[in-house]
Amino acid sequence: MTDRLPPSALTVAGSDSGGGAGIQADLKTFAAHGVHGLSAIAALTAQHTRGVTAVHVPPIDFLLAQIDACFEDFEIGAVKLGMLANASVIGAVADALRAHEPPFVVLDPVMVATSGARLLEPEALQALRERLLPSASVATPNLPEAELLLGHPIADRDGMRTAASELLDLGARAVLLKGGHLIDEGDVVDIYADAGGLREIAHPRLRIEAHGTGCTLASAIAANLCLGLSVADACAAATDYVHRALRQGYRPGRSDIVVLDHF
Ligand code: PLP
Repeated sequence: MTDRLPPSALTVAGSDSGGGAGIQADLKTFAAHGVHGLSAIAALTAQHTRGVTAVHVPPIDFLLAQIDACFEDFEIGAVKLGMLANASVIGAVADALRAHEPPFVVLDPVMVATSGARLLEPEALQALRERLLPSASVATPNLPEAELLLGHPIADRDGMRTAASELLDLGARAVLLKGGHLIDEGDVVDIYADAGGLREIAHPRLRIEAHGTGCTLASAIAANLCLGLSVADACAAATDYVHRALRQGYRPGRSDIVVLDHF
């Protein structure tokens, strides 16, 4: 046994029985970064590489028991929030964060899976915007999620810059707005924004249908924050990590979806 104690990160998210996204992706990503992974399961999905076949949301008390147990015994460096299913879960998680005050909160505003499955009730959008965005050290929406949070379309790079500023105005202390959904032949360009300004993070577009990229990115940011990186550097390093993971991904199951390899 080593004396070296790794930092701990907590994911509060949904589980994916197929092992590609959600809690399973988060724990693999934490481990790949040398961070001890803790989990509080906010929703269970029956899922494979082709889609979600069932969702079960455990009682709120049970979710809170998991969160409280983690905070009671571990020094938590960062919390990652993923699939939270509905407004009651979001409210309870917001209250728990206020009570426990973790150093960093990474908010992946999960709404709809790539397969089209709904992972958040539409009525929960307001709770996500009002209760969780203001507690986020960094929020990591993709374009469709940012459009729903802001209530307007985002058409191009300029629109992304405006949207990132608007998300800061809603209370997130930093935003990593992911540009992969922009119809564009060039590089994928994400916009990172915080009080210090905006910067672009570009990476070559990979023509790969993958599953769990958003979860992996957000949990890599949380791991990097536990390891002492600044929020901006944690985002840049996590973007690079996902890019490398995509290149090394493999195709389990019977679909063409790639599951990220965690190294
Ligand atoms: N399942 C769970 C539990 C998730 O949290 C997510 C995304 O955050 C997904 C599925 C969807 O992942 P993807 O859109 O990469 O398929």
